[in-house]
Amino acid sequence: MNTLTPSHADHHLLIRGGSIVDGTGKPRYQADIRIVGDRIAEIGMDLPVSGAAVHQAHGQIVSPGFIDAHTHDDQALLSTPEMLPKISQGVTTVIIGNCGISLAPLVHANAPSPLSLLGGTDKHIYPTMRSYVEAVRAAGPAINAAALVGHSTLRVSAMADPYGATSDAELAAMCALLEEAMAAGAAGFSSGLYYPTNSAATIDEVVALATIASKAGGIYATHMRSEFEDILEAMDEAFATGRRADIPVILSHHKCAGHANWGRTVQTLAKIDDARREQRVALDAYPYIAGSTVLDSNYVDDITDIMVTWSSSHPEMTGRYLGAIAAEWRCTQKEACDQLQPGGGCYFQMCEEDVQRVLSYPHTMIGSDGLPHDQHPHPRLWGTFPRVLGHYSRDLGLFSLEEAVRRMTGLPAAEFRLRDRGLLAPGKFADLVVFDPARIKDRATFEAPLQTADGIDLVIVNGQVSYESKTGVTARRSGRFLSRHGADVHK
Ligand code: ZN
Repeated sequence: MNTLTPSHADHHLLIRGGSIVDGTGKPRYQADIRIVGDRIAEIGMDLPVSGAAVHQAHGQIVSPGFIDAHTHDDQALLSTPEMLPKISQGVTTVIIGNCGISLAPLVHANAPSPLSLLGGTDKHIYPTMRSYVEAVRAAGPAINAAALVGHSTLRVSAMADPYGATSDAELAAMCALLEEAMAAGAAGFSSGLYYPTNSAATIDEVVALATIASKAGGIYATHMRSEFEDILEAMDEAFATGRRADIPVILSHHKCAGHANWGRTVQTLAKIDDARREQRVALDAYPYIAGSTVLDSNYVDDITDIMVTWSSSHPEMTGRYLGAIAAEWRCTQKEACDQLQPGGGCYFQMCEEDVQRVLSYPHTMIGSDGLPHDQHPHPRLWGTFPRVLGHYSRDLGLFSLEEAVRRMTGLPAAEFRLRDRGLLAPGKFADLVVFDPARIKDRATFEAPLQTADGIDLVIVNGQVSYESKTGVTARRSGRFLSRHGADVHK
């Protein structure tokens, strides 16, 4: 740890007069915060300037930087290291490699869907997690990242036919890849059992891999086999995996999708309560009634509105609704979906009551699930965190600001085991956001999704001022790869 007394060599910053919301859920209080080097040195009233650069935060909230619990930013960290969609929301750490989809470890010239969500079919060039971590260090992103290892990535890497059953030799190869990744500092293992590259995996295969992550001290996050009719059975599988592998389970982007399942979050949240008596379970969610993923005709039911977010075959249809495209082409929506391949879409598949019920649940972390490479992305990419703080906390009163901040900071830091992150206290890493509680608001919409939020004043990453709303991203990028071992890799 850095010395807590400023020296001439140390960067030294004083945030003056803000309301501290510390990430634990406790009520806010007035104080100054002194940052020395990459850590918080001191929190208290009327701290002396002592040569520090001073930032006035009167009337503002000062909180830990937000941790985006669910992202697909693996490639974005390398190709757009300024990470504007995230840092402009106050996000200082992203969890990558969700839904069974990670960039490493895989070398593939033409990666299949859904791996192609990570910016194209030719981006998988990292044979090991260590080689990917080195690429992140070289790119020097503006925010921190912790990595999950994706099951689809392992299957495509190790199997002759990732759509089929695993041989003993293929499972052994996957285990070896995962062991290397965990040794390189990965935070855990993720599955996306819904997806074709993952769905042939049995629970025994998932348990074998999750056990390796568990032994290395990691967690298991899952995009379950079903979020529709069979969601309770899918939850049984996730919880059984957690118990058999002795590993904490995180249910990804929790929802009950499809009109027939609206209202069933009453059942799913009760089921999570039951499971939590036996084992460690958490979940993440984003604050919208639409999901987003690849275009898939299995999701086309002529009831759910679907907006095209990208299409390689018909880029001119981006931003339009599938129903209107089908009418124009004089075909069914399923046929239109097939003609738009490969592509992505927003699926308006949830009801507002379910979204609010899941967001209100005390063990729900906030995760954007944003898709940074989509031409016309779901607005969650740019708006998730300000939308929870502005729309759901302040405007609808769903929960207090302190509780909203806890679900974005202290809770995910604990669930993903990010040491010395997610809380404001002396000795913790200085990842902070300063925002205006009256003004904070998402501006990104489904029609115009590429918009920064209002009300985020200042973002500090590892003690460095990294984003100011007045000027946009600063030249300084001080993010780190957060190794599970706690020995954060410095640039
Ligand atoms: Zn997913």
